[in-house]
Amino acid sequence: MALTVVFLGPPGAGKGTQAEKLQKEYGFYHISTGDILREAVSKGTELGKVAKKYMDEGKLLPDEIIVGIIEEKLKELGNANVILDGFPRTVGQAEALDKLLNKLGRNLDAVILFEISDSEVIRRLSGRRVDPKTGKIYHVEFNPPPEGTEVIQRDDDKEDVIKKRLQVYHSQTSPLVEYYKKKNKLFVVDASKSPEDVYKDILSVLKL
Ligand code: ADP
Ligand code: AMP
Repeated sequence: MALTVVFLGPPGAGKGTQAEKLQKEYGFYHISTGDILREAVSKGTELGKVAKKYMDEGKLLPDEIIVGIIEEKLKELGNANVILDGFPRTVGQAEALDKLLNKLGRNLDAVILFEISDSEVIRRLSGRRVDPKTGKIYHVEFNPPPEGTEVIQRDDDKEDVIKKRLQVYHSQTSPLVEYYKKKNKLFVVDASKSPEDVYKDILSVLKL
């Protein structure tokens, strides 16, 4: 049966970095709600116009919008192995995901919690750079882009928005830790380690 894995953790914990590796080496389909929204913003669609307001303030979009996006994506992907990165982010989204997976005949295999301190998150996010052409993630200090690569800084990776996003994580998303612990789905990885070591821990959780 197709694998369904959730990456849970604060912004900047390294979820996208690890999803990139699993996509490349194991063919997982990486569903990042943040990436989907940023694409809508850059195309100037109706969704993009709504999303931009929330994203610039570091706030979450309403659950109905996000759940609709995920439903469409999962239906489109059929039987592929998927990583959900940045979704669910509220208990309401998690409950909607349970129902949706049930409807689609999918099982939730694992929720991997990326554990990391706020101070490390701030270091990672303030140095994060992205190649807008490929979506590849870099860091000015920890993983600098190759010479000549044009990279950008995300609008929401500015200090005041980073702080707001962390607050939103602690108040709205962290209750999901208990939610998935109770369901015996939660696996914790120490996300402060090197990307290679975090990757090894994830492979061991997924028995790959
Ligand atoms: P998320 O998807 O959880 O928001 P990212 O994968 O975009 O996080 O990573 C945030 C920043 O931290 C990026 O600049 C990335 O290059 C860097 N990073 C990711 N994993 C590590 C790691 N294990 N050690 C140091 N820096 C990392
Ligand atoms: P990310 O790329 O995961 O850091 O997400 C960037 C921004 O997109 C967040 O700060 C939110 O504004 C929005 N967003 C992404 N995923 C979700 C979600 N599951 N629920 C609500 N808002 C989201």
